[in-house]
Amino acid sequence: MPLAGVDYPRTLVEFQTFFPDEKACVAYLERLRWTDGFMCPRGHAAATPWRSARGLCICPTCRCQVSATAGTLFEGTRKLRHWLMAAWEVTNRKNGASALAVQRALGLGSYETAWAWLQKLRRAMVRPDRDKLGGEVEVDETYLGTEEPGVRGGRHVVKRAIVVIASEMQGRRIGRIRLRRVPDVAAPSLQGFIVDVVQPGSLIHTDGWQGYASIAAKGFRHRVTVTRTSDQPAHIPFPGVHRVASLLKRWCLGTHQGAISEEHLDYYLDEFTFRFNRRTSKARGLLFYRLVFQALRTAHVETDALFLDTGRGRRRPRAHGRRLVERSV
Ligand SMILES: [Zn+2]
Repeated sequence: MPLAGVDYPRTLVEFQTFFPDEKACVAYLERLRWTDGFMCPRGHAAATPWRSARGLCICPTCRCQVSATAGTLFEGTRKLRHWLMAAWEVTNRKNGASALAVQRALGLGSYETAWAWLQKLRRAMVRPDRDKLGGEVEVDETYLGTEEPGVRGGRHVVKRAIVVIASEMQGRRIGRIRLRRVPDVAAPSLQGFIVDVVQPGSLIHTDGWQGYASIAAKGFRHRVTVTRTSDQPAHIPFPGVHRVASLLKRWCLGTHQGAISEEHLDYYLDEFTFRFNRRTSKARGLLFYRLVFQALRTAHVETDALFLDTGRGRRRPRAHGRRLVERSV
């Protein structure tokens, strides 16, 4: 378990002490990358690697030079301190930070840079090997609407994204959650999600929708509460998923002012899940530690891949024109 004040800063003042310059950032990333000691890409371990003049680690066995950031989200950056500050901003604000907020806080010249960094950090927010949910799990779908102002002030619905939510329940308290955007509400989409994120043998609680009907055959216990014929409003039989759905919608509209494009939705769902599952964590610095730790285990993303070239040396964030959720909805 990482220690507050030793493995991660607890406050902004401690952050400044931890990371006075680029060199301190490199040392910190090396510590988080090689938690069990230095290991070169060819698998040679070394208690103390040698140093090149440029500050890279040199394997004493095969003499290869390696940087702690090679192949990771931080690869190639010469602004590690700014990156860590961005990670700090994202994890220390209760609802996360928008690109505009990060641009202002770091004094970045370009909104696009802040936007690209946040897109990259989101890719580190969910571990692929994460544990499955267990116990009693509510599952239901919600829709993220996409109304866009049409011509002459009218509105037209461009597209709606279907997000399926799984929420661990301890009584009426919500435990951990998982989210996934699905193309439809047919059985393969819904049950495929359940199989991927919930431990077999768990109790799955759904409404009477046929897409969930045969989930028991996949090794789960299944409780059905038919909401359509019930006199109770839907939020009473499924308090977990409905609470999560309303927080998700509010977060999309609040923190990001609806500026979430369909193409990037999956990464925003990851960020929401990352935050939600750590919502009771009192140590915001621990969130920072986890994010940086995971970023060092997340593959490098080319910045250019996030943008569309619009000619004459200009570019814009990909799919920014098709916003999934508008502020006005
Ligand atoms: Zn080596």
